Amino acid sequence: VKMYKITVVGSGNWGSVAAKLIASNTIKLDSFHDEVRMWVFEEKLPSGEKLTDVINKTNENVKYLPGIKLGKNVIADPDLENAVKDANMLVFVTPHQFMDGICKRLAGKIRADTEGISLIKGMEVTKEGPSMISTLVKKQLGINCSVLMGANIANEIAMEQFSEATVGYSQNKLAAERWVHLFNTPYFNVTAVQDVEGVELCGTLKNVVGIAAGFVDGLEMGNNTKAAIMRIGLKEMIAFSQMLFPSVKDSTYFESCGVADLITTCIGGRNRKIAEAFARNGGKRSFDELEAEMLQGQKLQGVLTAHEVHEVLSHRGLLHMFPLFSAVHAISTGQLPPSAIVKINNEKPRQV
Ligand code: NAD
Ligand code: 13P
Repeated sequence: VKMYKITVVGSGNWGSVAAKLIASNTIKLDSFHDEVRMWVFEEKLPSGEKLTDVINKTNENVKYLPGIKLGKNVIADPDLENAVKDANMLVFVTPHQFMDGICKRLAGKIRADTEGISLIKGMEVTKEGPSMISTLVKKQLGINCSVLMGANIANEIAMEQFSEATVGYSQNKLAAERWVHLFNTPYFNVTAVQDVEGVELCGTLKNVVGIAAGFVDGLEMGNNTKAAIMRIGLKEMIAFSQMLFPSVKDSTYFESCGVADLITTCIGGRNRKIAEAFARNGGKRSFDELEAEMLQGQKLQGVLTAHEVHEVLSHRGLLHMFPLFSAVHAISTGQLPPSAIVKINNEKPRQV
């Protein structure tokens, strides 16, 4: 019996690929409704047409994932409340800065037995302190929320090139297995681990290291320097995660969400790309300007995350323990030149 109905909340570069992956499975698997609804933040294309109309007419997200058919069973919907109303499995995949607003719009409108999963790399910092996006979903919508993170550059998965991903869950193993079932394909191998905070923090923090890697590329410093940045970055990722959540497991860093995502992001990610351009311009053009010009609507997560991490660390008086994270924030806000990325004292995080 078809018990589960999926809505994907988000339709950017990764959101569109997630819908494609899921739609290729719902038509094959008995327990899922074939239709996958995808909420689209509506916008007008240069042609004057609405993005949603074009997606439904051509089966392609011509703005965020051009050239890739999503599957006929993907239906774009510009009305958020309508898009989620019949679903009992919700996939959240928007840039993280929009999630607070989205959760506020959905609060009180979601059935309590709905299962959520977040593919979003980022966190929120409020007066009460840091909150992961899955926690925001849990608190504001009153539903369970797992996460899926991994070495997953969307355009490569769109072309069905082999990769892996990690589902992180806290209590509900059955729900995690259902998510694995929904996402897993011969070219997308998904594994579940019981460490939701560890998986989500890996995905979130590696974006800050990706910015540092981009600075190194912009400064033309070579492979050894980039490897050093990745190593120092990984140590700070582990120290920061285990400081926020002592339950985070070391083994999580060896899953796709850990070192693998760190490596792919530092080699081929958007955060890396824009940070490279920033350093090549000697910090004279802002990240916002470069993002708008080079990503055409896609969004960076690393600069905002560096800011959020900085808030947590300065509040706790621990900035000196995280020199790489601190340098990324200082460079991206123009307080230090890009070359400061290789002048960090990298032994401090060990003391945490
Ligand atoms: P994206 O970077 O393509 O962002 C564009 C999306 O943001 C579009 O759908 C746009 O409509 C939407 N948007 C713009 N303004 C908005 C607003 N005010 N409110 C709501 N939505 C708005 O998005 P993405 O690549 O799908 O990334 C989503 C999340 O997935 C991020 O956290 C990202 O880190 C993560 N992720 C991305 C990739 C990737 O390769 N693209 C891979 C893994 C994880
Ligand atoms: P970027 O946002 O830097 O492209 O990273 C994508 C990603 O998360 C790969 O897993």
